[in-house]
Amino acid sequence: MGKWKKTAAGFMFSGFLFVGMFIGFYNYALHENMDYWVKNKIVITRVNTSEKVAALTLDDGPDPGVTDKILKYLKKHNARATFFVMGNKAEAHPQLLQQMVEGGHEVGNHSYSHKAFNNMSTDAIRHEIRQTNNIIHKITGQKPILFRPPGGYLSYELVKICDQEKVKIAYWSWETDSKDWKGSSSRSITDHIVKHIAPGQIIILHDGGSNGLATAQAVDLLLTDLTKQGYRFVTMSELMKLEKKE
Ligand SMILES: [Zn+2]
Repeated sequence: MGKWKKTAAGFMFSGFLFVGMFIGFYNYALHENMDYWVKNKIVITRVNTSEKVAALTLDDGPDPGVTDKILKYLKKHNARATFFVMGNKAEAHPQLLQQMVEGGHEVGNHSYSHKAFNNMSTDAIRHEIRQTNNIIHKITGQKPILFRPPGGYLSYELVKICDQEKVKIAYWSWETDSKDWKGSSSRSITDHIVKHIAPGQIIILHDGGSNGLATAQAVDLLLTDLTKQGYRFVTMSELMKLEKKE
């Protein structure tokens, strides 16, 4: 699950948006160096664009019965998404990763086992990342370039490891984080996202976990609403290429 620590969640909302600016600078304050990493594109939380384009990202899968439904809805709405898969689940359900790639979606790395990184050695963290990259590469023929840390964990050490392993740290936009994994209904997940969406956002959802079916239904609902509003959905790597040069 993409669980924030309770205290961290409190600090996270201490951030603010500059009124009147389409793209605001905001402060997660999850880590003392978060602002620097975000500003320098070491941690990606959104992309600066005025186009109605966004990235849907799905964590903690693949889970049969949920991920396949989401793939079907993405196809129905002609949308692309990014799946941050766990290595152990990818190993168990390689056909779902193949379907992702066939559908034009991106597969990102979300660690092998989703263990808490704060209790792990550097070598163990590196192993979680490298092993999962190898599994994804073996199944899809593509080496992931994005890594989303389990639970949003960040440290100076992790930043260094990700640089060495040649993966970019793929965060998400807090405005559209509906905390879908907590058990919300598909309608409330959809409403939260539709209300808070803005160009260039990276929307976090979870196809793995106990609320996966509600999330799958929400993908259908929100794509219906947002494509009507003129939004299109691309993979996270594609979104990053749309970054407006200052
Ligand atoms: Zn997760």
